[in-house]
Amino acid sequence: ASGYSLLRDPHHNKGLAFTEKERDAHYLRGLLPPTVISQDLQVKKMMYSIRKYKVPLQKYMAMMDLQETNERLFYKLLIDNVEELLPVVYTPTVGEACQKYGSIFRRPQGLFISLKEKGKIHEVLRNWPQKDIQVIVVTDGERILGLGDLGCQGMGIPIGKLSLYTALGGVCPSACLPVTIDVGTNNEQLLNDEFYIGLRRRRATGLEYAELMDEFMTAVKQNYGEKVLIQFEDFANHNAFDLLAKYGTTHLVFNDDIQGTASVVLAGLVAALKVVGGTLADHRFLFLGAGEAGTGIAELIALEISKQTNMPLEEARKKISLVDSKGLIVKSRIDSLQHFKKPWAHDHEPVKKLVDAVNGTEPTVLIGTSGVGRTFTKEVVEAMAALNDKPIIFSLSNPTSQSECTAEEAYTWSKGRAIFASGSPFDPVEYEGRVFVPGQANNAYIFPGFGLGLIMSGAIRVHDDMLLAASEALAAQVTQENFDKGLIYPPFKNIRQISANIAANVAAKAYELGLATRQPRTKDLVKYAESCMYNPAYRSYR
Ligand code: NAP
Ligand code: MN
Repeated sequence: ASGYSLLRDPHHNKGLAFTEKERDAHYLRGLLPPTVISQDLQVKKMMYSIRKYKVPLQKYMAMMDLQETNERLFYKLLIDNVEELLPVVYTPTVGEACQKYGSIFRRPQGLFISLKEKGKIHEVLRNWPQKDIQVIVVTDGERILGLGDLGCQGMGIPIGKLSLYTALGGVCPSACLPVTIDVGTNNEQLLNDEFYIGLRRRRATGLEYAELMDEFMTAVKQNYGEKVLIQFEDFANHNAFDLLAKYGTTHLVFNDDIQGTASVVLAGLVAALKVVGGTLADHRFLFLGAGEAGTGIAELIALEISKQTNMPLEEARKKISLVDSKGLIVKSRIDSLQHFKKPWAHDHEPVKKLVDAVNGTEPTVLIGTSGVGRTFTKEVVEAMAALNDKPIIFSLSNPTSQSECTAEEAYTWSKGRAIFASGSPFDPVEYEGRVFVPGQANNAYIFPGFGLGLIMSGAIRVHDDMLLAASEALAAQVTQENFDKGLIYPPFKNIRQISANIAANVAAKAYELGLATRQPRTKDLVKYAESCMYNPAYRSYR
């Protein structure tokens, strides 16, 4: 290979870090300025230029350019500066990137599978240069973050999620495949946008949709075998629950919006209880939003309560109430409820407003998963604070604009008593001389380690007990020092260590359940997880 193409190959390019010897051996003389610098200095230099951009989207574009030109440097940057760069490559900035994907689109990343590829998906997968795939993140773009239907432009999400699989979970980048399934969009604005990159038609539904998905799922298993992890991401709930149920018995599938969210939120709750007191079963939960995130979290809480107390699942569910766009979910509504809401229809009079649901069900924990910002009003937070000494309030909707309330509102309106966490990051808040550090219930705590645990054990199915195992491992990483600062999640800067612990606990559960195919089982699973993790330091070329 020529030196010229080496510099243009993102997997091998090192830029100015090519040594004198490498420059001689690989025909690089003259193609680079004379200076030779270390990877660390390159990181410093990149951070310097990224920090100069004031607009988050510019930072995002600089990061994507780097990923496309020098992959190892991209990952080194992300790993070494994870707290600063996570909001750039992931929520909230990735949301804006998806909204503007058509106009910032330069080089295609990931694999686009549209209705035009029907009957040819097997060959489409073969066009992807890497053959050894371990994780696929796939979206159909219908519910991107809390931003709704972004059609083909949803591609930013699988790309972002997979870069976190590598940076935070240590999965090798060449084993990651981002996929967008394009069945059209119902977003009028995109349909009328002359620069839109996707199919210009309304979304396929019913059989047409199911057939394309099925062809994709079959082709994936044919191409990559039974142990490839398929993560469904940002599908609308009318498809998400069905896809998970349908393929959960034949494929290794995981829905981050339902299952990953549940696991990360449960971990935060378990940690919060160490501050507030009581067991999960002693608490009452109210959700605003009864979709993928809301019912997913609710179900995992109920499962954990029933395991801890030997209570039947149906009993445990009674501790949890949910509000959707039509009000509190109650028995009298049962006939018109979507199937995933039915288990939550309790005996209660109909209630329309959230504040009335708070006063009617007297929750100790209030969780927002509605995708609608500013819905935890002053009245609602004050009602929680009147009922509880330390109300637990999670505003999970993303991106920041959709958060049910801000950190400042939660602390101010509860007079500094709330235990608060959010989906998108908020800065620490000062209230009456005290500094409160809001927790970020970020799925990025769970899915990278969860995936690594599945991969390293050769798991062939996902089981709910693995989600509990991940949750338990995450909650165990919160130290007394963290609690003292009011944190209910450990700091992100230790994420690789956290991921290794989660991976080990998930893998152990896979072995216990007889779902692991990698035999014999390694004794020290944490060490093994660490040894599996991708390291972005440059290799030397001879
Ligand atoms: P989803 O399946 O579409 O569910 C949204 C739910 O909110 C539905 O039950 C909907 O009611 C309800 N809703 C909508 N508007 C409402 C209103 N004004 N008042 C009360 N309820 C309302 O979406 P999802 O996947 O659960 O995601 C929801 C949000 O959670 C998104 O913003 C997402 O970014 C966020 N999220 C955060 C995390 C995290 O922080 N770790 C993880 C996953 C998701 P109907 O059923 O009546 O339509
Ligand atoms: Mn998602």
